[in-house]
Amino acid sequence: MRAIVVEQPGTYGVREVEPPRPGTGEVTVEVRACGLCGTDVHIAHGEFPPSPYPLIPGHEFAGVVVELGAGVAAPELGARVAVDPTLACGRCGACRDRRGNLCEHWGAIGDTVAGGLAERVAVPAANCHVLPEGIGWGEAALIEPLACALWGAHRAHLRPGDTVAVLGGGTMGLLLAQVLRRQGASRVTVVEPRSDRRALAMEIGADAAVAPEDEPPIASFDLVADATGRPDVIERGLGLVRRGGTFLQFGVAPQGARVPISPYAVYFNDLTIVGSMAINGTFSAAVRLAPTLSLAQLLAPAKGLEAYAQAIAGFGGGAKPKQQLWPGATD
Ligand SMILES: [Zn+2]
Ligand SMILES: [Zn+2]
Repeated sequence: MRAIVVEQPGTYGVREVEPPRPGTGEVTVEVRACGLCGTDVHIAHGEFPPSPYPLIPGHEFAGVVVELGAGVAAPELGARVAVDPTLACGRCGACRDRRGNLCEHWGAIGDTVAGGLAERVAVPAANCHVLPEGIGWGEAALIEPLACALWGAHRAHLRPGDTVAVLGGGTMGLLLAQVLRRQGASRVTVVEPRSDRRALAMEIGADAAVAPEDEPPIASFDLVADATGRPDVIERGLGLVRRGGTFLQFGVAPQGARVPISPYAVYFNDLTIVGSMAINGTFSAAVRLAPTLSLAQLLAPAKGLEAYAQAIAGFGGGAKPKQQLWPGATD
């Protein structure tokens, strides 16, 4: 079968590899759509420490179950599924505290073991979630990032009526904006430098979309969520939080990045600063919520696996934020 193989940092492409067979408790999924995200860029360049090489990447994917391993009762052959990539051990202290995203032996399909940028991938049956009727493959492959947005929303403890600023109008920002709006935010403002992305933010239900240079009002949002991971954006974003409010670090900053904060301001203004890492028990909810959100608008036109190198090199450059590669798509 054809698959993307990152042989070592910086060396990757479409390769012919042995198709996987499902082990005990596993199924083989024929991949129909697989999204790329910033983590894939880091994996391609050797900047994601947990990844071993060679590796077939791809952790945002959906497809059809085509083979069942021993002992698998569900999902059935032919089921359309999205796959939760999380591989938590279930036994460590974090897992026993229901914090599988912080598992001491954390792994993920497409990050630490073979993923969905391939014609087929073998995955634990328990990680498969049957899709609702009528949802498209592109939207189905957005369920994984949506599950991350749901965990972020959970961590933010939004109160109905809160005002929200989401910093960054990429895939994650626009998913988080929709989730927070649904959760009862009275007004969601997306702060994004690109005008096409600001227009998209309005299309998917934001109440306002402003450029950073238009200086969103300081100290006026109950919740400010960073979806850029950029230290300069985060530093300014902290200043947008109203007294008593919350700052959510949702975007992935470079590991060595540092941002100056005023401990006095955190004290005097009763600020809460929270982080949100990946997915924790939010995948099923994302499956149920997906058909009710504006997801198709986020999808760039599908490309085949051959477009991987180009997609990695130009990551984030398109007007539609989410690039997906489909093994069956033609370039
Ligand atoms: Zn991702
Ligand atoms: Zn664990």
